[in-house]
Amino acid sequence: LKKGLSCNVDLKGVLWNEIGGLDDVKAEIQQSIEWPLLHPESLRRMDLSATKGVLLYGPPGCCKTTLVRAAATSCHVTFLSLSGAQVYSPYVGESERIISEAFQKARALSPAILFFDEIDSLVGKRTSSGGQSRVQERILATMLNEMDGIGTRLDQKTDVSRPQSNMKEVTPSCAGKGEVQGQASHIDSTIQHQMHEKNRLSDIDMSRVIVIGATNRPDMLDHAILRPGRLDRHIYVPPPDIKGRKSILKIQVSKMATRDIDIDCIGALTECFSGADIKNLCREAALTAVRESSAGGKLDADTLVVTQHHFIKALKAVKPS
Ligand code: ATP
Repeated sequence: LKKGLSCNVDLKGVLWNEIGGLDDVKAEIQQSIEWPLLHPESLRRMDLSATKGVLLYGPPGCCKTTLVRAAATSCHVTFLSLSGAQVYSPYVGESERIISEAFQKARALSPAILFFDEIDSLVGKRTSSGGQSRVQERILATMLNEMDGIGTRLDQKTDVSRPQSNMKEVTPSCAGKGEVQGQASHIDSTIQHQMHEKNRLSDIDMSRVIVIGATNRPDMLDHAILRPGRLDRHIYVPPPDIKGRKSILKIQVSKMATRDIDIDCIGALTECFSGADIKNLCREAALTAVRESSAGGKLDADTLVVTQHHFIKALKAVKPS
């Protein structure tokens, strides 16, 4: 059944070696996400409690989302992802239902990673002046209940058969093979079947779900979500240093036809660039090469190549975000 689900691929799997730099962060993520999901019995044996929730925070474009995808890919676990925009609904109770359903699906399909991108837009700080909207309060309460394990159980309240297409479902082990499955409703009925089946067998492993939030604004989060037992493992994802920038450049350059690229030089010229900025820079250099080659009206794929000069030109157009 999981195999069937995994074909609803709209995210590509990511390999650890596609991520440049961030060695310490990768190790910390492997420890706090992969160990509890893959080796829960070893942790139990050592009386170590498994992480239930992780918060990744840091500047935009510095790989938070990509790191989570890489963890999911390497663990071969179900990956469910939701962003603020997917959760908010004008209908009363709908946002809470979407959140609860996400937790239910994650439990039913465990081991699983449930990822909330831009989590600050969902569980922002409560203010004494009542700055938080009612729907935000309800979303926060739902998240806290679910994380504390007292959310609705699979066989109660929520009608899981209702079609909803806000969630991306991927088992990254199969991601990247390009298999795309159609209908959300088909997937929902598959999920429903699996949930009923799991309920029947009473083998839902509630512990093998890790909730991960990503944010650029950790200061905006409500403290309650950061307490022990919730998103209590906090991992800073920094902008790339010179070593990281060179590593990201090498990865990007290896995908293009290039000649005589001086990675050390470009690495030094990209201070304050995020990983996303470096990706943009490489794209701009490639476009510059294409533009130059096509100037005579012809474009010859065999002679098309990106050189240092294209990167220097691109650096004039692409600035650090
Ligand atoms: P945001 O906070 O804006 O959501 P983010 O921190 O989640 O950003 P990603 O979405 O993971 O960042 O990365 C943006 C793009 O930059 C992706 O295409 C990713 O592959 C690339 N990228 C960023 N950092 C790295 C890196 N260290 N190695 C390889 N690619 C990177």
